[in-house]
Amino acid sequence: EATLDALTVSDLTVRYGAVTALDSVSLRVPRGAVTAVLGANGAGKTTLLRTISALHPPVSGHIRMGEVDLVGASPESMSRRGLSHVPEGRGVIVELTVEENLRLGALGRNTSAAAVGIDRVLTMFPALAERRASTAHTLSGGERQMLVIGRALMATPTILLLDEPSLGLAPRVVAQIFQTLRDSVDADGLTVVLVEQNARSALSIAEHAVVLSLGTVAREGPAADLVGDEELRHAYLGF
Ligand code: ATP
Repeated sequence: EATLDALTVSDLTVRYGAVTALDSVSLRVPRGAVTAVLGANGAGKTTLLRTISALHPPVSGHIRMGEVDLVGASPESMSRRGLSHVPEGRGVIVELTVEENLRLGALGRNTSAAAVGIDRVLTMFPALAERRASTAHTLSGGERQMLVIGRALMATPTILLLDEPSLGLAPRVVAQIFQTLRDSVDADGLTVVLVEQNARSALSIAEHAVVLSLGTVAREGPAADLVGDEELRHAYLGF
């Protein structure tokens, strides 16, 4: 079954000084599916994504992509390995237009590949197509979130890591963005790791889910099993 996994994390421990953010965490990320990573503030969700992206070194453990261990790889090599990371906070360049922001995601690719990528992203997010020539400072929060996801997709990743894309957005906008992600998984076989506080929405598009609690895995399994577990929902997921 391991070959069906895009990523396999084993015994991963990460510390910030004396603070243990992840304590021997093991989990799988199935290929061509959405994996929701859930848990309260401080559970270690952001740390998990940053460690997968090689932005923070673990104390111990492994992050395997097939036969390759990503631990020790450089953050710069991640895009070449097919990994894109959308951090929390919607860091668009507000002085640039929507199209120019997207082009930044295609640096190092040739012009025709960039053009195909831009068309693809604008088809995925029609709201952005209408704003193609507008500067990003005129965009709503939802449109900025679409733009950072679109920019990450310009690198044609096989694995997309998303940190709290729903934060501060209206439910209708969240539903729209999540549906677009779902479509991309179904149509292109994209693998998505979706870190969310909004457990209910995340689970509604996920096949697989992991609940982190104080740096450890409280539960891992099919998303439907977590939704069906009332005790777990009340204890960890807030719905
Ligand atoms: P949030 O939703 O608030 O981002 P999270 O689940 O993503 O929470 P992390 O941000 O990964 O959790 O934090 C995990 C633990 O590590 C917390 O106890 C946090 O205080 C600590 N931590 C995170 N970053 C640092 C840092 N740069 N220095 C020290 N401690 C940190």
